[in-house]
Amino acid sequence: MEASKILRQLPSVNEMLNSSDAKRWIKNSTQPVVKKIIDDVLDETRQQVLEGKLDDINDDYLSKQVEKKLADRRVRRLQPVINATGVILHTNLGRAKLPDSAVKAIESVANHATNLEYDITIGQRGDRYKYVGQLVSELTGAEDAIVVNNNAAAVMLVLSTLFNQKELIISRGQLVEIGGSFRIPDIITSTGGILKEVGTTNKTHIKDYENAINEETGGILRVHTSNYKLIGFSETPDSKELAQLCTKYHLPLVNDLGSGLMLNLDQYGFGHEPTIREEVESCDLVMFSGDKLLGGPQAGIIAGKKKYIDRIKHNQLLRALRVDKMTLSALIATLKIYRDPEHAIEKIPVLRELTMDKCVVLEKATKLQKLILDKTDFQATIAEGTSMVGGGSFPDVQLPTYLIDLKASASETKLNRLLEYAKYPIISRINHGQVFLDLRSIDESDFEKIIISLNDVAKKMNK
Ligand SMILES: *Cc1c(COP(=O)(O)O)cnc(C)c1O
Repeated sequence: MEASKILRQLPSVNEMLNSSDAKRWIKNSTQPVVKKIIDDVLDETRQQVLEGKLDDINDDYLSKQVEKKLADRRVRRLQPVINATGVILHTNLGRAKLPDSAVKAIESVANHATNLEYDITIGQRGDRYKYVGQLVSELTGAEDAIVVNNNAAAVMLVLSTLFNQKELIISRGQLVEIGGSFRIPDIITSTGGILKEVGTTNKTHIKDYENAINEETGGILRVHTSNYKLIGFSETPDSKELAQLCTKYHLPLVNDLGSGLMLNLDQYGFGHEPTIREEVESCDLVMFSGDKLLGGPQAGIIAGKKKYIDRIKHNQLLRALRVDKMTLSALIATLKIYRDPEHAIEKIPVLRELTMDKCVVLEKATKLQKLILDKTDFQATIAEGTSMVGGGSFPDVQLPTYLIDLKASASETKLNRLLEYAKYPIISRINHGQVFLDLRSIDESDFEKIIISLNDVAKKMNK
């Protein structure tokens, strides 16, 4: 058909808005949203017709386009999803699932006035960081601590407080990019520090650090390389060695731990990773995330010597980076669990999934497989595989796991998309053309939702 003819046949926005379909759309959305989407669809359709990409428009073409946009909008809202990727700390999926006590803590303060910045003991304005500071100190041996929005903020705050206009010595092996826009060299310069890189990518010796010290030196920064690991001919001084050097020259040693591990996980075969307590012993300040291996809410914790924490408390930037009562309550509740290390592994979902025995994962997989076979039209077989820790933690660790290999009449990419658009979105893992659900990162309490979603997908597949 000719372009001009098709264009003439297109309905107006108002015609579409008055259709019976539109009544249904508006019921599930709002009039202005539906109107905007209809506008967009008509614009895009006109454009495509003019470009010769559309030469025929059947009756329900426009409705389908609107419905697709409405569905896209609906799935984009912030909502729970089922993490079937097997990546335990999936940054795109919001990292740590909170312990129950942290959820309760948020609930208890959310719709209530709190003593966030009111010190009941003196009946006056108080310090929002005092209690959490004492708790972190109790658990890590630090003198004091402070909490900000995330670890990126913690690092920026520390650097800008301590090393503005000063040289900051760092090993070339630690000039890493943590993800997207967080690159250590850029962070140092953007916070006013002067980058003084020493050593080489694979080897840095203590004398490299010592040779770089002069009157302009502000201190030494250590950075956990997190998502990246050098193996083979490589070496870098540990915090203890650096601490001796820093003591000799009266310089602060600060350490971006990234994940920050509270408990020693050696017995689970992760390879030794120093705990926060071990690092606090050597370093003047350590910084770590609240929602990586700690297993709490998004936050950045700075712990260490009181004299530096006090300086940070006077930095104007702190006001812009501070955490609210909900984050603080969830973090406090999570930290409290660590008072009883024996039970922390069970009570903190991140640690539970991380250390879950392969047999337990298999039990879950068998249970879900039976449910899928009994209650849906999908085929499901169990396969062995590996899960990842994620969140830039333990990049070389592969956790043995069991997966459900999900089979349906649709292609794997279509099935994967449908799972993501389901009532309870399931984020699966595609491997070698197959769709897998990794049971290590799936909670048994979500099995019912998975079945509902699979039946939802089956209906759409047959359409
Ligand atoms: C993850 C990470 C950060 C950033 O932490 P966020 O809590 O994500 O802001 C900074 N430094 C290191 C070494 C990290 O691993």
